Amino acid sequence: MHKLKQIFDKYCREKRLDISFSSDMPAGYEKANGMYDVTLSTLFLNTELLAEMPEYEQLFYLFHELRHAEQYARPEQLGEAVRRSMSYAIMYDGECFRRAEREWKGCRLEGTEEYFKSLYFGQPYERDANAFAYGRVRELCGDSAELRELAAFWLPESPPAEEEYMRIYDEIDRRTAGAKAKPAPTPTLDHIHITVSNLARAERFYDRLLPLLGYDIALKEHDSVPEHEYEIVEYHHRALSIGLVSPRSAYSGDAPCRRRPGALHHIAFRVCAPSEVDRLFKLVRELPAIIVREPQLYPEYCSDYYAFFFKDSEGTELEIVSLERERYFPV
Ligand SMILES: [Zn+2]
Repeated sequence: MHKLKQIFDKYCREKRLDISFSSDMPAGYEKANGMYDVTLSTLFLNTELLAEMPEYEQLFYLFHELRHAEQYARPEQLGEAVRRSMSYAIMYDGECFRRAEREWKGCRLEGTEEYFKSLYFGQPYERDANAFAYGRVRELCGDSAELRELAAFWLPESPPAEEEYMRIYDEIDRRTAGAKAKPAPTPTLDHIHITVSNLARAERFYDRLLPLLGYDIALKEHDSVPEHEYEIVEYHHRALSIGLVSPRSAYSGDAPCRRRPGALHHIAFRVCAPSEVDRLFKLVRELPAIIVREPQLYPEYCSDYYAFFFKDSEGTELEIVSLERERYFPV
């Protein structure tokens, strides 16, 4: 396999291709001979699988993927059909995809598996890569009946005509044009796990605090992984789960330092109105909790930013705030 990497390096140098090589196949491609991922600029070669194959076959798959890298790097050197075909994927079952910006849009076409298989093997960019691989391996290893057979396997004798592909691509364009654009992602916290210095003490505190914020203690869960000295108490709510994690014994009793890189600085819970901040302040004070700052307006943050700050039983700072976020951050 060392030799394949050498040939890869030499080829990339000659062609000034700035790509990486990996033998670690991406998920879903464990059974493929190779693949080129343009987003990662990485050529993946299944060296474990290839080790069972004769050298000319290993080289065939290497040059096939190198050609794909080149197709992306220098599309201007390709014919129109090859260039256009690179935006489309056709599967055996008629599932088709078109690359739009950074995502693939899918649709399904009607037809037999045999028909889609012929379309799959005959894709102009695949034919281009296979013809290229055949040519390069022939130069390096000489022609042979086995090599011709391998090339014939990958290069269909009478692939669907170019016009047929253009018709299919137009059809895919039509069918995927109406596909609804995905809404812009909204960042949504699912859960936060905080390592505390004393789990039992923290649990007593959060048992009292979290119901004030809408948590149902009946949904609390306990779990542990003794070999990792790991215990967790998790409070669930449809909006956000909060987990308290035991420290490793070497750190138990340590106070948190919120200015240490990677540490949790503070967590703020938002409520619906300043009056709710005031109401919760009275309840939190009675928990009891150490109040850091009583409710007040912080116009330097936002004109209606009204909050108070306190510490949990472990010394982690928490905040309860009211503000109309949409006023300041419309997106
Ligand atoms: Zn290919």
